[in-house]
Amino acid sequence: MPNTEWLKGTVELSRYGEIVVDAKGATSVPGVFAAGDATTTPYKQIIIAAGEGAKAALSAFDHLIRHGVNG
Ligand SMILES: Cc1cc2nc3c(=O)[nH]c(=O)nc-3n(C[C@H](O)[C@H](O)[C@H](O)COP(=O)(O)OP(=O)(O)OC[C@H]3O[C@@H](n4cnc5c(N)ncnc54)[C@H](O)[C@@H]3O)c2cc1C
Repeated sequence: MPNTEWLKGTVELSRYGEIVVDAKGATSVPGVFAAGDATTTPYKQIIIAAGEGAKAALSAFDHLIRHGVNG
């Protein structure tokens, strides 16, 4: 089970407690991104988590470029 109890009431979680992310690693909260086994991304493997982490970081960078730190 993912250790995501503390996120309840913030980002959307699946019925298994996984953080719901889209193809870019975006959560239900604008500007908040997630990656790895704790997300809804299928196949809980190291290479998947690492790739998703890189993707989420790029998405966060893209978000900051477009919206700034206060957006
Ligand atoms: C027994 C076992 C064998 C596996 N074998 C393989 C394999 O052979 N090949 C393969 O590709 N994958 C394997 N996996 C899967 C692989 O371990 C995971 O897919 C990968 O580690 C996911 O990386 P992650 O960074 O998303 O999560 P994790 O590696 O689980 O890292 C999450 C980190 O967050 C920390 N954390 C949790 N809650 C908090 C909190 N509230 N505050 C601060 N820190 C927190 C945890 O302590 C942990 O260090 C195996 C998994 C298990 C359990």
